[in-house]
Amino acid sequence: MDSFSKKLYLLKRFGNSLFTYDCVSCGRPVQGKCLCEKCSEKVFYSGNYYNGFACACYYKGAAKKAMLRYKFAPDYKFCFDTLLRWLLLAYEKLGEKNFDAVVPVPSFEAKKTRLSELSEKFALMAELPFRPEFLRKIRKTEKQRELSASERRLNIAGAFKADASVSGKKILLIDDIFTTGSTAAECANALYDKGAEKVFVVTIFKTIYEKEV
Ligand SMILES: [Zn+2]
Repeated sequence: MDSFSKKLYLLKRFGNSLFTYDCVSCGRPVQGKCLCEKCSEKVFYSGNYYNGFACACYYKGAAKKAMLRYKFAPDYKFCFDTLLRWLLLAYEKLGEKNFDAVVPVPSFEAKKTRLSELSEKFALMAELPFRPEFLRKIRKTEKQRELSASERRLNIAGAFKADASVSGKKILLIDDIFTTGSTAAECANALYDKGAEKVFVVTIFKTIYEKEV
């Protein structure tokens, strides 16, 4: 990653910090962020990580509102830096470095998604190579969020294909939300099929289950 692009991005981020927005959770004015101080305090940072996986926070409350705005609203850009900070936080928790490639979970329909945009900037900040071409989605699938755990596994089975050049590489897979882990597992399988040495997973959010509350 070239440090010039990183500096340029940091400069742009500084510029953004001067603008005033409305907090996505309570509507109060806030500078350069999508959550005000009060709502930021209500984010549930997750200490929940295990071998090869880390996430920043639980998918609920103010954090969930920021994600929904980022995912679906046309004015999503002002949530970008907050989500990027969380992604970097999850990466720190992972405690692993020296990845050969940052690969976002791909979409079937579009090459450039909001997740790939976020992953690209994450790679820039973490000074890692961004290689979205290493993994493709080869068929359309149903929306995972409407399905049960077993339906999710079936829905996503065989939906991804990795490039042969992942062989021997240490890959950092990026997704926005970890729910049952079926998408991440399927992507990791596709990467291992083509000889990836190790696949680690970082997501911004983890869905909260009753038993964990
Ligand atoms: Zn607020």
